[in-house]
Amino acid sequence: MICYLLSPRGYCIGVKRAVDMVNQILQLYGSVYIIEDIIHNKLFINNLLQKGIIKVNSIDEVPDGSAVMFSAHGVSPDMANKAEERDITVIDSTCPVVKELQMKIQEKSDEGYSIIIIGNRAHQEVVALLGYIKNDNVYVVNSEMDIDLLPNLVNKKVMYFTQTSMYPGEIKPIIDALKLKIPNIESCNAFIQEPFKIAHNICQDTLERQASIRAVANKVDLLIVVGSEESSNALSLVSAGKDNGIKKVIRIDSKDELTNDIFEEVNNMAITSATSVDINIVNSIIDHIKSKEIFTIKEADDINSNEESESNIANNMPINAEQDLNKEPVLTDKNSNDNSLNNDINENNTGVSNENNS
Ligand code: SF4
Repeated sequence: MICYLLSPRGYCIGVKRAVDMVNQILQLYGSVYIIEDIIHNKLFINNLLQKGIIKVNSIDEVPDGSAVMFSAHGVSPDMANKAEERDITVIDSTCPVVKELQMKIQEKSDEGYSIIIIGNRAHQEVVALLGYIKNDNVYVVNSEMDIDLLPNLVNKKVMYFTQTSMYPGEIKPIIDALKLKIPNIESCNAFIQEPFKIAHNICQDTLERQASIRAVANKVDLLIVVGSEESSNALSLVSAGKDNGIKKVIRIDSKDELTNDIFEEVNNMAITSATSVDINIVNSIIDHIKSKEIFTIKEADDINSNEESESNIANNMPINAEQDLNKEPVLTDKNSNDNSLNNDINENNTGVSNENNS
């Protein structure tokens, strides 16, 4: 019996960047305010709350002279502007992939397009995206039923976008229904995801994790997804497992949730993680499974490379976002004589700004 370890697992590069930023800022300032969770991982946020992170409900509750960190999922321009007007140091950990999407949506809306966002309207990323559209010509859809409620947009300029963490198999029927109702609808980029043949804005790392599930689906009868229930990325991986016919798919936050009955009637299994999960947590779960001495642990890389063209996936990464992601965030103390905070931040395009230094 084999336990396949799927890749990639642990943090994606966008989350890793946000985690590095918060660790650096805690070292510098001792505390930092957040309004939304920086990343969608319960254990990580609980740990940060003990280390000096203070969670508030709005930017108005952040005291002057303190630091606030925006989440990897982005914030609306309104919130960013409010913070800029105050004596607050802003650390913006918005993932460059999300930033690219925000800019594209704003550009197309300004060009007169009606915008349709396929995603979860309560998710931070979607809430922030809506803030980039300065008119009412925007609609969020999450099911085929939502499409019936759209106004008549035939013969108008219309473009659809997708949240970065969706599962293509789930959004395909929505896109098909959109094309049926609005034949003139355009997609934002030309990338086509096999085998779904739809254009979308789902990020490269998410697609790779979904592809790795597809590659082992016919070899396993249990898939364990490590990730929080708040994580859209984790839920997409669960959908990918079910959609590809894996008999038992479970999502857990930590090894404490691994009960013996999970492994009953299982021959082979696979383990993956959402992009917001620390690799150490994933490793502790792998070690726990190893200690049961039921499964031979095996990396699934060989299977993945045969099943999915990685170059197809890589083509989906916006060029600017890819360049930004590969730069390391570097923060230094704003009160020190070393004036490199803003220089480093600006060079690295991590979005930290401080009105005192501007
Ligand atoms: S958009 Fe992709 S790379 Fe960026 S934080 Fe989300 S999952 Fe990670």
